[in-house]
Amino acid sequence: MSSSDEEGSGEEYLFKIVIIGDSAVGKSNLLSRYARNEFNAHSKATIGVEFQTQSTEIDGKEVKAQIWDTAGQERFRAVTSAYYRGAVGALIVYDITRKTTFESVGRWLDELKTHSDAAVAMMLVGNKCDLENIRSVSVEDGRSLAEAEGLFFMETSALDSTNVKKAFELVIQEICNNVS
Ligand code: GDP
Ligand code: MG
Repeated sequence: MSSSDEEGSGEEYLFKIVIIGDSAVGKSNLLSRYARNEFNAHSKATIGVEFQTQSTEIDGKEVKAQIWDTAGQERFRAVTSAYYRGAVGALIVYDITRKTTFESVGRWLDELKTHSDAAVAMMLVGNKCDLENIRSVSVEDGRSLAEAEGLFFMETSALDSTNVKKAFELVIQEICNNVS
C-alpha cells in the first residue's frame, strides 16, 4: 500500500501493520508504548477496530505505519478478514509468562497467512520480558520457532520499553525492503 504525497515534497508511504496474538499478551500496550509512549496497567479491551498512525523516517523517506490493534475480538477467535486485509506487516505477540499464548502462535500464523498476501514482514514478539522471574517460555524456544517459521524475533517489554521501538521499526524497515 503506497501513495504519492499530495504536497509534492517527495514520496510518502503508508503501510498497514497488524498486531495479533492471544488476549492479554500486551498488544494494546505495545502499540500505545510505541505510538504515544504510554503504558496502562489496567487496560480494557476497546470497542471497535482501532488503528494508530505513526510516522518514522527510513532511508531518508517519511514512512507512515498504520498499526491496527484488535478490539478484544481475539478472545472469541473472531478476528475478521477485514482486519488482515492489505496488511504488509505483522507482529505476532505472545506473553513469555504464559506458555499457552506461545502455543497459540501457530494458529495466529495460519490465520495471518490465510487472510493476507504472501509478502508480509512478520515479527514474533515475546512480550513482558520484564517478568523474568515468572518466565515460562525460554528465549531459545522463541528464537527457534521464529527461525523455523522464517520470522524475525524479539523479546519486548511494553512496561519498561525494552525493544518496543526496535520491533516496530524492524518490521517497517523490512516492509520498505520488500517494496523497493
Ligand atoms: P492485549 O489484550 O493483548 O491488548 O493486552 P493489553 O495490552 O491489554 O495488556 C494486558 C495486561 O498485561 C495489562 O494488564 C497490561 O498492563 C499488562 N502488560 C502488557 N504489556 C506488559 C509488559 O510488557 N510487562 C508487564 N509486566 N505487563 C504488561
Ligand atoms: Mg488489546
